[in-house]
Amino acid sequence: MTHALFPGSFDPPTLGHLDLILRASKMFDKITVAVLKNNAKNPIFSEQERVEMLQMSLLAYPTVKNVGISVFDGLTVRYAEKIGANVLLRGLRSAVDLEYEKTLAYTNASVAPEIETVFFLTDPAYVHVSSTIVRELASYQADFSQMVPDCLVDKIAAHFSK
Ligand code: ADP
Repeated sequence: MTHALFPGSFDPPTLGHLDLILRASKMFDKITVAVLKNNAKNPIFSEQERVEMLQMSLLAYPTVKNVGISVFDGLTVRYAEKIGANVLLRGLRSAVDLEYEKTLAYTNASVAPEIETVFFLTDPAYVHVSSTIVRELASYQADFSQMVPDCLVDKIAAHFSK
C-alpha cells in the first residue's frame, strides 16, 4: 500500500495545498495531511483551527475518501514511521522551494532511508499562493479570496478583524 504523509504548517491552508492533496489522493492509496504543532514559525492559527480548516476544505470533495488529517510534533520521518507512511509528499513552487526542499529531503533520507520524498510541481494557477501571502493580505483587509478555499474566507478574515 502507498501511504503518503503531507506535512506542513497549513497556517492557513490554501488552494495550492488543496490542489496537491486532491492530486495525491488519485496517486496514493492513502494520504495523511499532518499539521505541524509548535513549530518555530509561531503559527497564527491553533493546530485545532488548522485541522478544522483542512477538514472544511475537503468537505466539498465527498468522493475523496482516502485523505485523513492529523497533528504531529517532532521529526517528520519519525511520525511517518509511526503511522506507516512510506512516502513524504512536498510541493515545489520555485527554484527557491527546490533548494530548501532538497536539503530537507536528503536529511530525511539519511534518518529514514526507507521513506521516499516525492515532489509535486505546483499547478501554475497557484504558483504565487502561500500561507504567508494570505496572512499578509488578510492582515491589511485586502482581498485574498482567490487563494484559499471559499469556505475558509470568512474564518480567516474574521481572525484578522479582531
Ligand atoms: P511548511 O512550513 O512545512 O513549508 P507549508 O504549509 O507552508 O508548510 O507548506 C506545506 C507544503 O505545501 C510544502 O511542501 C509546500 O511546498 C507546499 N505548498 C505550499 N504552498 C503551495 C502551493 N501554492 N502549491 C503547492 N504546494 C504548496
